[in-house]
Amino acid sequence: MIERIINTDAAADDPIEQEIEFTLRPRDFTNYIGQERLKQNLQLAIRAAKKRGEPLDHILLYGPPGLGKTTMATVIANEMGAQIRITSGPAVERAGDLASLLTNLQDGDILFIDEIHRLHRVVEEVLYSAMEDYKLDIMLGKGPSARSLRLDLPKFTIIGATTRTGALAAPLRDRFGMIHRLEFYKPSEIQQIIERAASILNVKINKLAAETLATRARLTPRIANRLLKRVRDYADVNGDGIIDHKISTQALELLEVDELGLDPADRMLLLAIIENYKGGPVGVETLAALISEERGTIEDFYEPYLMQIGLLERTPRGRKVTHKAYKHLGKKMNNPGQTSLV
Ligand code: ADP
Repeated sequence: MIERIINTDAAADDPIEQEIEFTLRPRDFTNYIGQERLKQNLQLAIRAAKKRGEPLDHILLYGPPGLGKTTMATVIANEMGAQIRITSGPAVERAGDLASLLTNLQDGDILFIDEIHRLHRVVEEVLYSAMEDYKLDIMLGKGPSARSLRLDLPKFTIIGATTRTGALAAPLRDRFGMIHRLEFYKPSEIQQIIERAASILNVKINKLAAETLATRARLTPRIANRLLKRVRDYADVNGDGIIDHKISTQALELLEVDELGLDPADRMLLLAIIENYKGGPVGVETLAALISEERGTIEDFYEPYLMQIGLLERTPRGRKVTHKAYKHLGKKMNNPGQTSLV
């Protein structure tokens, strides 16, 4: 994948980035900005579960990367006064790995499984009965002497996160009592997130600069925080450390993030459709080959935001760029009949 400033990948393996990401993570509903409907639903469920003295129902959170799924899982754990264990689909390789995770939980604990759509099939099957009736079926031995053993598990809650619910097997999806989608944030909420992060990191940023960053952060908290850090570097080197409007626009220009928050990779994708396919429609596989990206990356990282701001459309015959995209890129439409006038 192309290295991007607006990458929505978690802080990969950089320990300093991870530390900062951890520091910035809100711990309760009050500090978790936006996603009001989701918060209301969860607050109600938490209050009810507490009143009944029961664990929370299993929860599935879905939506594009960087919108706050992991953060929400930790907030839920704090609000429940529960312990949280964090793992991810690809990390749980064998049924035995899941068995050891589950048997080490205590009543009320939360197990957060990121990228739950990437769980191996055999692991997923073990999870079914664990989620349904807190039982673990394990096979002992092999061949004719093999026998199965049923273990009682503590009353835990699974919080699963995925970028695509479509990739989740129906039996797994059905075992979640609550399924919630995280929405892109409003620019005003992103601005609040930037101002909160700036005050935690002791960064001085004026209102106009925060507003500028907010409009270019792809309506995504992780990108907002990342842009803030890069712009702070620029302000430290090229100014007196204070982020004002001039510093922020200069830094964003250097980072090649434009007024709509697009970076060179986004523009390349849109231009590829315009120049090679007269604006589309073009199949996602063809598009992936055209810009040397993986299909999943296009679907998870590029498309949701480009569609959200009306530059790209998904049709049954493939992806199409919109009139707005032509305009944004300063391109003339050769064949307006082929592209919708959004
Ligand atoms: P996801 O799990 O959806 O990929 P994360 O929960 O890891 O996203 O969020 C990325 C970062 O964005 C977090 O470290 C946190 O600092 C910030 N963040 C996410 N949601 C919010 C929010 N609602 N309010 C403030 N900061 C947030």
